Amino acid sequence: MSLNQHNRNTLFSVEVFPPKDAVALQSIYDNMKYFAALNPDFISVTYGAGGNYIGDSVNIASHIKSTYGINAVAHLTCAGNSAADIDSALKKFKQNGVTNILALRGDLKEDRQVSDFPHATDLIKHILETSDFEVSAACYPEGHPESSDFDFDMQVLKMKYELGVKHFISQLFFDNDDFYRMVDKARAMGIDAKFEAGIMPITNAKQILKTIGFSGAKLPAKLTKILSRYENNPQALRQAGMNYAVQQISDLLTTGVDGVHLYAMNNPVTSSAIYAGIAPILKEVNK
Ligand code: FAD
Repeated sequence: MSLNQHNRNTLFSVEVFPPKDAVALQSIYDNMKYFAALNPDFISVTYGAGGNYIGDSVNIASHIKSTYGINAVAHLTCAGNSAADIDSALKKFKQNGVTNILALRGDLKEDRQVSDFPHATDLIKHILETSDFEVSAACYPEGHPESSDFDFDMQVLKMKYELGVKHFISQLFFDNDDFYRMVDKARAMGIDAKFEAGIMPITNAKQILKTIGFSGAKLPAKLTKILSRYENNPQALRQAGMNYAVQQISDLLTTGVDGVHLYAMNNPVTSSAIYAGIAPILKEVNK
């Protein structure tokens, strides 16, 4: 699948993660039919964020492709992988028909550090020089949390683009203006790539703390109001959080975003409800 020359105007994609727990892992396979029913351009499969084994990513990505005929994008990280590990993973993906990689540095942990490839750019270069995978990369509407310099992050984005990346998926964000600002800046720098907006629906109070913790995303006043107003009513909070995501996506689609990437959190119910809320608009912008 080429994400660079796609015939649809606006991409829609879904992200799942392989859980470590065997029962939860099986539920990914059981629930894939619901994600497939959302008619995504691709489903991406994370790697390592929850400490999963690369074999699970390979199996899930391969299942998406062979069972549903849907394109799979496999995440691959510098963190926790030597060059030999990367080459072995690439070989497995290739053998299983996976042709797209989202190349990332990865979340660093005490037992999950970088070695041969210190930055995503090193991994991107390696993959593009040694294989024929199409490579996507991450971008950050509010800047990367480890970096205090947004302009530097934009230079990193440009490096990724100049290496050959033509498709970026953004970190989650809650204020569309941050995404528009990043894309405008990228365009002004001559970065002619597709930018998919990463959207994570907030469905419970615990999740929001975790989400902000790893992404550094700021909460707009409107979302803070939802959280405090419904903190004692999980059902109302969940519905308001989903409505917020639907409104966010509607605005992005109306403004002409290149694509929307739904952080599905392995939850087919939430994902289907959000899809139902955006489907007519998605259809219209892709007419
Ligand atoms: P990089 O582009 O390497 O950037 C990391 C930091 O290093 C930034 O601060 C950047 O400014 C700096 N930097 C980059 N290049 C250089 C350079 N050449 N010199 C100096 N500094 C530099 N994590 C996982 O572990 N598994 C996943 O499956 C996963 N999926 C993700 C999917 C998406 C869409 C996104 C947005 C993130 C995902 N992450 C995942 C998280 C991601 O790995 C982290 O955000 C990580 O901290 C940075 O990854 P990166 O690829 O952006 O790294």
